Amino acid sequence: MIEKRQFYINGKWVDPIEGRDHHVIDPSTEDPCAVISLGGQADTDAAVAAAKNAFPSWMATPPSERIALVEKLLDIYQSRGEEMAQAMSLEMGAPIDMSRSSQVGAGTWHLQNFIDAAKSFDFDRPLNDQSPNDRIIYEAVGVCALITPWNWPMNQVTLKVGAAAIAGCTMVLKPSEESPLNAMLFAEMMHEAGFPPGVFNLVNGDGAGVGSQLSAHPDIDMVSFTGSSRAGKLISKAAADTLKRVHLELGGKGANLIFADADDKAVKRGVLHMMQNTGQSCNAPSRMLVEAPIYDRVVDEAGEIASKVSVGPASAEGRHIGPVVNATQWQKIQDLIQKGIDEGARLVTGGLGRPEGLNKGFYVRPTVFADVTNDMTIAREEIFGPVLSIMKFDSEEEGVRIANDTVYGLTNYVQSQDGARRNRLARQLRSGMVEMNGEGRSAGSPFGGMKQSGNGREGGVWGIEDFLEVKAVSGWAAE
Ligand code: NAD
Repeated sequence: MIEKRQFYINGKWVDPIEGRDHHVIDPSTEDPCAVISLGGQADTDAAVAAAKNAFPSWMATPPSERIALVEKLLDIYQSRGEEMAQAMSLEMGAPIDMSRSSQVGAGTWHLQNFIDAAKSFDFDRPLNDQSPNDRIIYEAVGVCALITPWNWPMNQVTLKVGAAAIAGCTMVLKPSEESPLNAMLFAEMMHEAGFPPGVFNLVNGDGAGVGSQLSAHPDIDMVSFTGSSRAGKLISKAAADTLKRVHLELGGKGANLIFADADDKAVKRGVLHMMQNTGQSCNAPSRMLVEAPIYDRVVDEAGEIASKVSVGPASAEGRHIGPVVNATQWQKIQDLIQKGIDEGARLVTGGLGRPEGLNKGFYVRPTVFADVTNDMTIAREEIFGPVLSIMKFDSEEEGVRIANDTVYGLTNYVQSQDGARRNRLARQLRSGMVEMNGEGRSAGSPFGGMKQSGNGREGGVWGIEDFLEVKAVSGWAAE
């Protein structure tokens, strides 16, 4: 069993002051695979004090030096990619090949995009040509708490740490207690890269403990959080007394509108995207909205594709999907599948229980429901499992109305060969991102949501700006 009880504070690995043991469970086997410590208030305070102490000199460090350290970090991250892939695969169940490519790759992508964006970002510039004595200075927000989830661990850690570091913020990272090993490995990389002591600190803990303590802490200037809407609300409330900046990346219930003129691969793409990472993605296209003339054919095709998705342990190589992260998630998904059946949706494939031959481990059957209506629980709640809901629409207007009829607004998807229609829909869909015809968003594109999917944007220049204050100066002397 891996033993990793220490925290990374002020440039050193230290014993917890108020730690209690917590077992990390391997979701493929349900057995404990590691023991970590969950910290208490004294640990939180020590990490925040270190970050506060390091802030003035880190903020004053020229951006070029901060960028150079992130470049060094990226080199180390890439050279230790296999270790990172193994850690994530073990603790959150991503199949090892997918962990190597997508989970580790997401971190590489974000760090590189921040480096590129920062190199052409003017942290200090004139207001405009007419006002030479007015200066705009982009200045670090301050000491940041970074609270991350287990589903795309390095994706989230790099989105927050990379941007905060380049912006000149110091930070305390609290990774999910479900997947702390990858974050501790990342802390080793930060150390190896040579970030000054106190710039980056890591304390493990749960939401009620370290998570709440960071959110309410008077010396924390900003919380950047990714995870459930439930925790997002609690963090916002805890942060209110100190009026700190709160950046939220929450859940989603993405619609994937498939029109009769969609390309041949659209259905397959939609189903496999839903199943990717065992459905544990906030931007999953979990509601497939299909234009009436092709509805029956799409339902058959989607069922067939999902029934061929294989499920297996994270350690096995190949293109299968792994287990979901823990027993609570497994049970929540079972309850929602049952709700779908009870509320009258048609089960096309999958359903309750584990896939055949898998009796231990948090495995879920890839499931497709048809004839779903948008008032059903499975159409409204984020399931966070490999469960697709298909519904029918008769007109473009109806499709848009159903897509927008949700409290979430993270990513919507459109499949159609009609360019004018695609552009029209991109403007009408109420979400932070619209992805069309399977074309991925390019390097430096911002990630984030509207409505209850959160606020702020991560990635590229927008991600860096989220960790910056804008200072307006008059009476600036010519230099
Ligand atoms: P969660 O939101 O409870 O946990 C995410 C992170 O927040 C963890 O680090 C956790 O320790 C911390 N946290 C929890 N409560 C907190 C609090 N009160 N104050 C401060 N920090 C707190 O997510 P979960 O319980 O692991 O998953 C439950 C549901 O959340 C899932 O079913 C899914 O719908 C959603 N979720 C969404 C995302 C996303 O990317 N949008 C990611 C993970 C989970």
